[in-house]
Amino acid sequence: MKLAVIGVGLIGGSFAMALKQAGRASHVTGIGRSRENLELARSRGIIDSIAPDAGAAREADVVLVAAPVAQFQSIFSQLEGGRALITDAGSTKRDVVAAARAALGAGSARFVPGHPIAGAEHSGAAAANAELFRNRRVILTPLPENSPGDIETIEALWSACGARVSRLDAEEHDRVLAAVSHLPHVLAFALVHDVAKRGNAEQLFSFAAGGFRDFTRIASSHPEMWRDICLANRDQLLKELDAFSAKTSRMRKMLEAGDGAALEKLFAEAREARNRWLKSST
Ligand code: NAD
Repeated sequence: MKLAVIGVGLIGGSFAMALKQAGRASHVTGIGRSRENLELARSRGIIDSIAPDAGAAREADVVLVAAPVAQFQSIFSQLEGGRALITDAGSTKRDVVAAARAALGAGSARFVPGHPIAGAEHSGAAAANAELFRNRRVILTPLPENSPGDIETIEALWSACGARVSRLDAEEHDRVLAAVSHLPHVLAFALVHDVAKRGNAEQLFSFAAGGFRDFTRIASSHPEMWRDICLANRDQLLKELDAFSAKTSRMRKMLEAGDGAALEKLFAEAREARNRWLKSST
């Protein structure tokens, strides 16, 4: 299989590495914005050749689009009229599907949308690794116009990366991910930003320990990527932010009233839910 990866970063690079390792990709063409990153990808053996623009990917068997989601429409328009089966790794799905339909027209039948629920706060080809998707979930949000065979082909590629594949529709995907991924990222960015902008930030950071580190790890994520995700899923993220504000307001009232029993009950319920989740996800 000839694979083309548009956006050879953490996700695109890891997909290429995993498929090469599994013997599923005989040649990988890399397309990107940064020549330096593409050269690094080639020197690491992630890609075999570099193409100047997304148009070159039309000749591949399969194309993975793994750039920030605001880039997708212009990338899709360069893929229009090609023969390749296209998939993507974008963290939001309604906007990506709309971009594919607008740019590819009837060719959207060849686009099977996907999102690996695996990642890291690191970016670029330097961070790519073949094991990134092992035992992680990948959500496909197939379109009614996709053929069952094309969906199965993309499913099989993610399975070859070691991932567990499930399916949702794009609406549900964006609703779910707003709660468990997009909101936590916004909160981590907000907390670090708030501390960093205080007059005694240096002192605060010097005393911050494991709890702060764990809570804020994802604030080291790529700003452009997260700008695009937040804007693309704005309506769902706003609902989540409102629900979260209501929750902290209720907790503030408990604190103000010195209601230790209510606080302890809430903490216990949260701890129990987290433990259950950890147990079920291992
Ligand atoms: P990354 O920054 O590591 O890689 C993105 C790459 O895309 C970069 O090399 C960049 O130069 C390139 N790029 C940017 N604009 C481009 C364009 N117009 N044409 C071609 N290449 C372009 O980011 P990543 O973490 O690999 O994320 C890639 C995609 O995967 C995003 O859509 C993101 O939403 C999604 N995703 C990320 C994670 C994560 O945790 N990092 C997880 C799941 C999905």
